[in-house]
Order: sequence, then structure tokens, then C-alpha cells
Amino acid sequence: MQELDTHTFRLAVAQFDEAAEAMQLDPALRQRLKLPQRSLVVSIPVRMDDGRVEVFTGYRVQHDSSRGPCKGGIRYHPDVNLGEVAALAMWMTWKCALAGLPYGGAKGGVKVAPKKLSSGELQRLTRRYAAEIYPLIGPDKDVPAPDVGTDAQIMAWFMDTYSQQVGFAVPGVVTGKPLVLGGSLGREEATGRGVVYVTLEALKHLNIPIDRTTVAIQGFGNVGSHTALIMQQHGAKVVAVSDVSGGIYNPKGLDVAELVRRYRIAGTRLQDAKLGDAITNEELLQLDCTVLVPAALSEQITGKNAHTLRCRVLAEGANGPTTLDADRILGDNGVFIIPDILANSGGVIVSYFEWVQDLQRFFWSATDIQSRLQSIITSAFQRTLHFATERRTSMRMAALMSGIQEVAEAHSQRGLYP
Ligand code: GLU
Repeated sequence: MQELDTHTFRLAVAQFDEAAEAMQLDPALRQRLKLPQRSLVVSIPVRMDDGRVEVFTGYRVQHDSSRGPCKGGIRYHPDVNLGEVAALAMWMTWKCALAGLPYGGAKGGVKVAPKKLSSGELQRLTRRYAAEIYPLIGPDKDVPAPDVGTDAQIMAWFMDTYSQQVGFAVPGVVTGKPLVLGGSLGREEATGRGVVYVTLEALKHLNIPIDRTTVAIQGFGNVGSHTALIMQQHGAKVVAVSDVSGGIYNPKGLDVAELVRRYRIAGTRLQDAKLGDAITNEELLQLDCTVLVPAALSEQITGKNAHTLRCRVLAEGANGPTTLDADRILGDNGVFIIPDILANSGGVIVSYFEWVQDLQRFFWSATDIQSRLQSIITSAFQRTLHFATERRTSMRMAALMSGIQEVAEAHSQRGLYP
């Protein structure tokens, strides 16, 4: 399929191929799992505020549903394309399987720059996109969630559009909703909290005390900002953060709470917040720090810059931030990698809690959410570490192979239809 042949999709397939080869996966299943189970491309006409109609392109890709309903976020970004959405859907399959969640993997996206749209335009775009992918989604079929460029408000419009079609409120059709619509406590910060929990495990494994840990974070959206706040609450020193416009660095440690206040509430640019020295995104990646957290877009760490990284631990908050050739360089340089499908799985784990609460109409406390998240993600980390040590492979291959193994077993038990 030519439309799939993009660099992000090639990365996801190359990772899968390497894992499939190492585990001698059945060739027919390997062929099947390289491609999505189902892909939908939709046109989304939107009435803009000035009266014109603009047509956007949207996608929903279901990679595999053998273990349960498909699960995965919706991305609004100008670079969204079918290949990227299919890669992200494949990663969701392995991520859910690795964490032991009863889900398959999916992803959606619209090629749009959401910040350039008014709130009304964004709402109309979201509602029409939801209506167009309606045949694929539902609490038992496919459950979207936020991703880059989408948030709780967008999930609320999505939930309302779906509910209007069926005639009653269906909170379980999306996760990451506002609390009043059946959202879950702790969902918003869940990905960042998960990044911190697995980093704490890695530091323990490497005998590095948290109070001697410095952290640099690329990306200051949902994942990056919550990772920064929670890292600091646990006693680490956050020395640098960045967003698309550039970053700031303070070797004494940034005042993250104040930075978030100025950035999110007052709308100041990171570099104008006067809390550290201006640095570029490339300089942030090269900082001498204990933990580097890429929490922005994919393929940031490549064969070109991997040898300049000076971190001890790479905790992948983003999906697909590291290319395969970069992996090899980092491995040779002794960087301990917590791969994306493990490091950022806190988001989908708490999405799972939200969905369970919606289906049961019974809601849990914040303490319940945090302790269940910690127990699931910590045990996924320990299983992955054990697998990597036992099989003498990297953390990335261990995580992928564990996830793929679960999916392969589900396929084998279900058998081939018809
Ligand atoms: N978009 C998030 C991810 O990439 C969360 C997905 C979800 O909660 O379904 O893992």
C-alpha cells in the first residue's frame, strides 16, 4: 500500500520485523500484523467562520482487534498522514498488550493545525470527523482518546456527537473526557505520571538516587509538563524543558510549578518566562543530564544526533521518538532506554480505568487510580527488564517481543475465520 509508505510507518515496521525475526513469528501472522486490520480515510467539510467551506482529511486506523476493542488517540496536526496514523495504531497494539489491557490498537488523526482554528471551527471539525468515522467506533468496538493537538473538550464534543446518533449518553465511547461527562480522576496527568513511575524503577535498577537526578524534557504539552511537575515532586531536578519555539535551561533546577503557571495560564513563551537561559531543541537533547525525556513528536533522535546525547536514561514520553540506527548508537554508548510503548503507557492505562468506570457507572478515588497505575506500569517495567536480561536483548526489543507474543497467542487461540 503506497499511502502507508512514510518514514514513521517504515520505523514501526522495521521495529516489528526485528522483533518478529528474533521470536521467529509465524510468517502468515507476520504478514498480517505488518499492515492494519482496517483503515478509513474520510473527507471532513467544515464551514469556517468567514463562510467558506474548507475540506480536511481525517483517518481512523485499527491495527488489530484480536484482544478486545481497539484503543488509541486522535491526533490533530498538519503533518498527519495515513502512514503515521497506521504506525501509531501498530504501537498502540503492542502497548496495550504489554500492559495487559484487554484492547487492540488504533489511532486517528486529522491533517489540520488546530491552533489556527477558532473554537467554533474546531467543534464543527470534530463533530463532522466523529460522524464520518461513526461506523467504526463504539465502546465495544473502538474507543478514541486525546493525543497531540486534542484535549478533553474535543473528547466531550466527540462523545456528544456519538451520543446524539444513538439517542442516549454513551460516556464509554471515548476516554480523556471532562470529569462531569464520565472522565476519570488522574487521566490528564496519567502519561506524565507513568513516565515518572518507570523512570523511578530504572533509577533504582541503575542505583542512581532521585535527589541526584537531573532531567531534561523535550516538549511541554500534556506529557512534558506533567512529567516535569511530577518529577520535581519526587525530588528530581528538572534542568531544561522546550517546546516548538525553543527551550530554557537552568542548571540549578527550574521552578516548574511557576513555569507551568506562566506558560499555561498567562500564555508566555517558555523563553520569555525568565526562569532560565534560552537554548535550542538540539542543545536540549545534548545536555549532560541523568534522564532525557523526549515528549514531543516522532523521530527526534536519529543516526545523525544520537552520538551527541549525554543522558544516562532515555524515557520515551513521545511515540516513536528514536530511530533504529539511533537505538544502536545509544545501546553502544550505554544509555538505558525505557521504550515508548512502556514509558508512555500510563495514558492508555488510565484510559482503561476511565472506560471501566464508565461501563460500571461506578467511579474510583484518585488514590485508587494512582496506585493501580503504579502497580500495572511497574510490573510491566519489571517484566520487560527481566525479559531483556534473560534474552540478552534491548529494553525496546523486550517490550516489543512481549507485546507481540500476547497478540500472537490471541490470534492462535482464536484461529482463522472462516
Ligand atoms: N494518545 C495516547 C497514547 O498514545 C493515549 C491513548 C489512549 O488513551 O487511548 O498512548
